[in-house]
Amino acid sequence: MRLIFLGPPGAGKGTQAQRIETELGIKQLSTGDMLRAAVAAETPIGLQAKDIMARGDLVPDEVVVGIISDRIDDADCASGFILDGFPRNVAQAEALDAMLARKGLALDAVVELTVDPKILIQRILTRAAQSAEGPREDDTEEALTHRLTVYDQQTAPVSAHYKKQGLLRAVDGMLDIDAVTQEIKQSLGI
Ligand code: AMP
Repeated sequence: MRLIFLGPPGAGKGTQAQRIETELGIKQLSTGDMLRAAVAAETPIGLQAKDIMARGDLVPDEVVVGIISDRIDDADCASGFILDGFPRNVAQAEALDAMLARKGLALDAVVELTVDPKILIQRILTRAAQSAEGPREDDTEEALTHRLTVYDQQTAPVSAHYKKQGLLRAVDGMLDIDAVTQEIKQSLGI
């Protein structure tokens, strides 16, 4: 299956994508993780992305579209993938549509985790405090508030893009973790 997981920072996309990755044997592709690895390795993309990420802005579309286009050609994505954190705006969604069409591939579904925005900051701060790797550079309250604004302005419209295509499945991300996984599986018919 080829899936997208949508939802604001702190909605639980990463956790749920990992569970579905295990369940279906398809790769979770997190642009955030890939960019953080590039920053740590100080690659040219990492150096370009570092400050943008630290303040919670989006890195340029062509950078993430290029990363995803290359990654989904890898052999481990042949049976499918879950895009986590991509697309982040309508231009990226349109670029993804064109890219998949060129590769002769199609999406099966887009799962949107819906969460009350009021709980997100606390959820992310708790996650940061509990993380074995320590807090992320963009997990400060200031960067977080900005990430949520960017989400509202740029990423929220992506849902409508996929709704028009009949691919959108909304799942209540406020349930406990196991219940969310069950709802996602049900929405995908697996
Ligand atoms: P995430 O781990 O998904 O919260 O992403 C962390 C940061 O990486 C974001 O705040 C952006 O700076 C950057 N990023 C991740 N995915 C994208 C994307 N699809 N487009 C632009 N920037 C991205």
